[in-house]
Amino acid sequence: MEKIPYKIYLTEEEMPKKWYNVRADMKNKPAPLLNPKTLKPMGYEDLRPVFCDELIQQELDDTTAYIDIPEEIRNFYKMYRPSPLVRAYCLEEKLKTPAKIYYKFEGNNTSGSHKLNSAIAQAYYAKKQGLKGVTTETGAGQWGTALSMACAYFGLECHVYMVKCSYEQKPFRREVMRTYGAQVTPSPSDTTEVGRKILKEFPGTDGSLGCAISEAVEAATSHNGYRYVLGSVLNQVMLHQSIIGLESKIALDKYGVKPDIIIGCAGGGSNLGGLISPFVGEMIKGNADYQIIAAEPASCPSFTRGKFAYDYCDTGMVCPLAKMYTLGSGFMPAPGHAGGLRYHGMSSTLSQLYADGLMEACSVIQTDVFAAATEFARCEGILPAPESSHAIKIAIDEAVKCRETGEDKTILFGLTGTGYFDMTAYKSFNDGNMSDYIPTDEVLEKGFATIPDVKL
Ligand SMILES: *Cc1c(COP(=O)(O)O)cnc(C)c1O
Repeated sequence: MEKIPYKIYLTEEEMPKKWYNVRADMKNKPAPLLNPKTLKPMGYEDLRPVFCDELIQQELDDTTAYIDIPEEIRNFYKMYRPSPLVRAYCLEEKLKTPAKIYYKFEGNNTSGSHKLNSAIAQAYYAKKQGLKGVTTETGAGQWGTALSMACAYFGLECHVYMVKCSYEQKPFRREVMRTYGAQVTPSPSDTTEVGRKILKEFPGTDGSLGCAISEAVEAATSHNGYRYVLGSVLNQVMLHQSIIGLESKIALDKYGVKPDIIIGCAGGGSNLGGLISPFVGEMIKGNADYQIIAAEPASCPSFTRGKFAYDYCDTGMVCPLAKMYTLGSGFMPAPGHAGGLRYHGMSSTLSQLYADGLMEACSVIQTDVFAAATEFARCEGILPAPESSHAIKIAIDEAVKCRETGEDKTILFGLTGTGYFDMTAYKSFNDGNMSDYIPTDEVLEKGFATIPDVKL
């Protein structure tokens, strides 16, 4: 067997031409979205005022396993994909582990994360429908940046509601978005009804993703020629992100490598869902077995301490309800440094897979995450995003276990992005000022109390 290279690339010809929709193969389908007013399942027509037509079809489709990637999107993908699948030889050596570690690196584009994979698809369908523009929210700023790039490419207007604390903490992120032509508003703002209401109720609030979502939805539905787009949580996003898992699988198959453990960080679940999709598909069909681990922050533990229930996706309760692992839409996460993982809920597809025992989850504290990030950066060279570093932490833990047991397991993890805009967080870690926040049961109970009692 030839030595596995440091980086396994695919040729343009080898790149996937279809996304994989794991819902088609799931025995228990994810529960449908519910109308927040009537609590009835939402169909195509109900969703049209908010979302783009073709994206709704993808959202509701749980029967088509493979969906063509339009040529325009594939051409854009070719500018920054395939993303490298890297064998972490240096990390393995540093850890003195017999484990073999691979990571799929999605930070090799200007937006710095995997979010561009879905942004470009969503902008394409919006343009194809003849829309003028799209609205969205952004927490840490990665999604807003990715969407700004995609909208600039297709000539669409882009209005981003940015969670206020990030808007203030990350002025450079904001400027990147503006450079690509987006309009950026700190949220909550007084430009929407729901924003004004939240400001009145919580004066001086730092904002949250849930608030920003409510504002972006209101802005889309109250302007002609606009729709709302979302960078995570939804089924359509996970579908687009399946490109990560498909490319990984093709690359590993080339060398006859089969992972034992697959790890991804979980915010709304899109990168993890995309990474594991083709592997979970094999598991469901009984063709293979993998240990899949979701890594989430101890400060926002949707899987490990949340409830599996129908809940609102946003604080303003204007969005459809989804059945998912949730901390309650009223849960206000403490300001932490992994902005992309601070969402109260989780993809309903991943939630169903977790409920069915097809995957596991564990939570990690912030200082351990940054210690792992630093260790990784010093040997593999890449400066990882704090979000991604949750997966690094678990991958290192698993590799260290192998050192102790002598097992030579193969570990694959998703390295979702780079951390150049997170230097305030790194500074606080380097200065020894970083704290670890773990919500008490009491705090969680307050969030759970905001979960509606939905009986179907
Ligand atoms: C947004 C983001 C995440 C979390 O989002 P998911 O939908 O759970 O994938 C993770 N890493 C990075 C770098 C991000 O930007």
